[in-house]
Amino acid sequence: MSGRAIGGPAQGGPTASGPTASGSAADGPAVVGSAPLVLARTKAELASARAGLDLRNGPVVLVPTMGALHAGHGTLLRAAGALAGPDGSVVVSIFVNPLQFGPGEDLDRYPRTLDDDLAMCASTGVSLVFAPSAAEMYPHGQPEVTVDPGPAGQVFEGQFRPGFFDGVLTVVLKLLHLIRPAIVVFGQKDAQQLALVRRMVSDTDAGIDVESVPTARDADGLATSSRNRYLSAADRKVALALPRALSAGQARAADGASAVLSAAQEILRSEPALAVDYVAVVDPRTFTAVRPDHGGPALLVAAARAGGTRLIDNVPLVLPAGPGGGRLSDAAAEGRARDAADD
Ligand code: AMP
Repeated sequence: MSGRAIGGPAQGGPTASGPTASGSAADGPAVVGSAPLVLARTKAELASARAGLDLRNGPVVLVPTMGALHAGHGTLLRAAGALAGPDGSVVVSIFVNPLQFGPGEDLDRYPRTLDDDLAMCASTGVSLVFAPSAAEMYPHGQPEVTVDPGPAGQVFEGQFRPGFFDGVLTVVLKLLHLIRPAIVVFGQKDAQQLALVRRMVSDTDAGIDVESVPTARDADGLATSSRNRYLSAADRKVALALPRALSAGQARAADGASAVLSAAQEILRSEPALAVDYVAVVDPRTFTAVRPDHGGPALLVAAARAGGTRLIDNVPLVLPAGPGGGRLSDAAAEGRARDAADD
């Protein structure tokens, strides 16, 4: 594998020398530090580095991210390492994908911390980081052909962020084509994204194993997120009502979906500074709201804003089969109506 050293700021791209340099090819990917971590900034550099991974016997495992890596990403990197095994390779993509940001969202101020990200990747045994520019990923600007996420992409996050999942699935499909992993790893924190990626891989016969990792939380219960750094101390206190509501709902799982929802809503109502976008009990595969008598696996999902920061979170549930009862949220009722219309 050809390599090029980096010595300057990683955000600015590779430079020709540095104390941790290895290799000196003029236009190959950059080798970072003493660990065998390669940084590819272009598709050509990626292709060269990816070819080297074929010389190994184990699977290539991809972890797609937008960078600003935190403990939640760390759990994905470690899971990916375990899936890759001693003969395999972990590839991490770091790309703040403009296609999935709507007008007025935080594309410009989204945190970009490539130097720290590379350090975390090196320390967890990642072989290759692909960190392209937007122009590299979308050389013709806005792509004309994109992935339609289908009905499960129109509700909840898809409803509050129109076009979001078209952007997510389009970039994930591009990454799958460019990196050709055997396994791709996603976090359960973004449960709707996970469900849609599974569906895309299945519907397009992509032939890739999609694995998931449970949500990592800080000690106070807040799910770790790159956007948490936007929260002031006061915002964070407000935000904590979200995981509290999810835990309260989860604790009522044995009593059925309506009890779960009521318990969560009660906590959310007790924190008026938290602006709730939605809270619902959904089927983890289709993201339709479940009926009150639904039994089996489900997810309690919620999204809310604390200060200017939008947070999403969810917890898994196992609901008992049988009559549930109680009133469903508007979103749940809407889901039921849609189900009925589909029948
Ligand atoms: P992002 O960089 O936010 O696009 O996230 C990249 C991947 O990390 C996605 O698969 C996320 O679901 C996952 N992820 C983000 N936060 C967490 C967390 N707190 N726990 C587990 N996975 C996470």
